[in-house]
Amino acid sequence: MSEDIATGQSWRYRAPEGFEESRLVVGAIVRFERGENIVCCSVSKLPRKLNGAAHETITLPFLPLTESAFRASVSEQDGVGDLPESFPKRLLMWAEDEKGMVAFKVPFAGNLEQMVELQFGRRTDAAREASEARIVEIGNILASGLETEIEPFPGTQAEFETILKRLRELPAGDIKGKLVIGGFLNHPHGADQMRCLECIYYLPHRLWCDLPELDIPVEPYWWCRLWRV
Ligand code: SF4
Repeated sequence: MSEDIATGQSWRYRAPEGFEESRLVVGAIVRFERGENIVCCSVSKLPRKLNGAAHETITLPFLPLTESAFRASVSEQDGVGDLPESFPKRLLMWAEDEKGMVAFKVPFAGNLEQMVELQFGRRTDAAREASEARIVEIGNILASGLETEIEPFPGTQAEFETILKRLRELPAGDIKGKLVIGGFLNHPHGADQMRCLECIYYLPHRLWCDLPELDIPVEPYWWCRLWRV
């Protein structure tokens, strides 16, 4: 049981050296009669690598962890913490996802890319090379100034589904159509600097977007309006 874990708590975790102020803040605990509880958190002051050795910190609005992954991540409780405004919306979208409430089963140590690779598989160089060849082509389309529908961002599951439906209606191989309807940008977006790397659909070992309606290679620093964690 998880009586000692409660919403609003702020927890220290095994953050990278120099970023010890980063915290996991518990926003919700989803309990199941059978199966493991899920602890839904946000992450404050999460380190993110910029070019070269430089770092910045961002807020990761939503990170679902199984209770055992949460326990393996944290070291001690540190009072209460603030959740970002977008947390309730992210929680609702995650809870309504038709794929079910997907949660990370591996510990969080301040490196989301590493965590995703641990859970979804390590990189295979052959697959990555194949993606890299196509990614140049798609990157050129975006860099050409293609105007895409970055607004409105789908605030509800119904709005999300409407975009998916439009994507399904595209002719096979219509990459430009996917980029336009998906609202692609070739850089991070918004106050939280959202990008593919932190999106649940991103497969870093293949540089690939695994959302079936997109199913294309993407760079980790790109973004589209179907982004979710
Ligand atoms: S859904 Fe959009 S943001 Fe998420 S990985 Fe795919 S392209 Fe990137």
